[in-house]
Amino acid sequence: MKNIGIIGSTGSIGTQSLEVIRELNGLVPGSFRISALACGKRIEAAASQAREFGVRLLCTAEKEDAEKLKELLWDMKPEVLWGREGLNEIAGSDMDMLVTAIVGMAGIEPTLKAIERGTDIALANKETLVAAGEIVMREAGKKGVSILPVDSEHSAVFQCMQGIKREELEKIILTCSGGPFRTYPKEKLSGVTPKMALGHPTWNMGGKITVDSATLMNKGLEVIEAARLYNIGLKDIEVTVHPQSIVHSMIKTRDGAVLAQLGFPSMKLPIQYALTYPERLPCNVPVLDFEKGLSLTFEKPDCEKFPCLGLAIAAGEEGGTMPACMNAANEKAVRMFLGGAAKFTDIPMIVEKAMNAHRTIKDPTAEDVLNVSAETYAAAGL
Ligand code: NDP
Repeated sequence: MKNIGIIGSTGSIGTQSLEVIRELNGLVPGSFRISALACGKRIEAAASQAREFGVRLLCTAEKEDAEKLKELLWDMKPEVLWGREGLNEIAGSDMDMLVTAIVGMAGIEPTLKAIERGTDIALANKETLVAAGEIVMREAGKKGVSILPVDSEHSAVFQCMQGIKREELEKIILTCSGGPFRTYPKEKLSGVTPKMALGHPTWNMGGKITVDSATLMNKGLEVIEAARLYNIGLKDIEVTVHPQSIVHSMIKTRDGAVLAQLGFPSMKLPIQYALTYPERLPCNVPVLDFEKGLSLTFEKPDCEKFPCLGLAIAAGEEGGTMPACMNAANEKAVRMFLGGAAKFTDIPMIVEKAMNAHRTIKDPTAEDVLNVSAETYAAAGL
């Protein structure tokens, strides 16, 4: 039996992780147990998850929600923690694997807490690897902790890497859907509304990552994430726009072979592979039907129209605390855009302004990263 904790259990990745676990337990009863769950504000959803999976250690973002959740689950007498400390306690509790399905830099501390405890990580929360990737990978290495990618592109790379030695890997080719505005005129982008940006053509995801996909910031974050996960230089990571989202990413080996992982666009398989690795078990997702025909196209990303991709890569090249600054400014800008306080085209401008004002700390500690993230977040856009 594998003991799993999920932070961000009520979101897109969190609920799909529970769906995968429900199905795996249906295949092999009792193969997974959920020991802890953390949510933000959706306490009714968290309560029904806790009932279904018999979870008695929970956490909410706010204290009053923790009280309400306790009342909803009064007969189970759960321990309900709250806030930053509660989240860290959940992440550092006894479990085999933590699924980091929380959104944003709030994932940094709990991920480090879990690693400190020696818990393997199924990592969806890419912002953690962007802001604190070197620290996370170093600490994981020291503790012998596995960081298993949930992000579909990085899972594709991970799947392609099975049986390949690191020195045989020459290049990573990340695919990118291009987002909803791939063919939209550049001069009209300033009129993009949150509703328009939240309509992703091929993936159904949480709000923040959907906006990141529309600005191509998501791909920029993923370039840094890939560099940290696979210890590969940014210049050896290529981005190609593939609107069908069937090829989830590719690797090129030193003999010139290109290996790809293909599949229906669904997060269930990458989530399941992280949970069951190295085993491959049946997964309830539609399979590709080649008899119906399949057209796969690839094109260069338009970095002029979508400056966030270049900004993220520049932050990755600078290293130190610059990616943390870039990431925090983007989080703030996306929140402002969704709240109506910034235009779609303000997002890259806010990020660039924050990066220009930042003095990079080389070789930062976790505390430096957290401070820079919090300070940039507070200052961005002002
Ligand atoms: P969602 O917005 O759907 O979910 C975010 C989750 O985090 C929710 O459960 C939310 O709780 C919870 N949360 C937010 N703040 C806190 C807090 N302070 N304490 C505890 N929980 C909190 O996001 P996604 O599932 O889309 O994305 C999660 C992460 O996975 C992101 O880093 C994203 O980039 C990454 N990712 C997502 C993919 C996808 O397909 N969705 C694909 C690849 C990566 P509540 O809802 O209760 O407020």
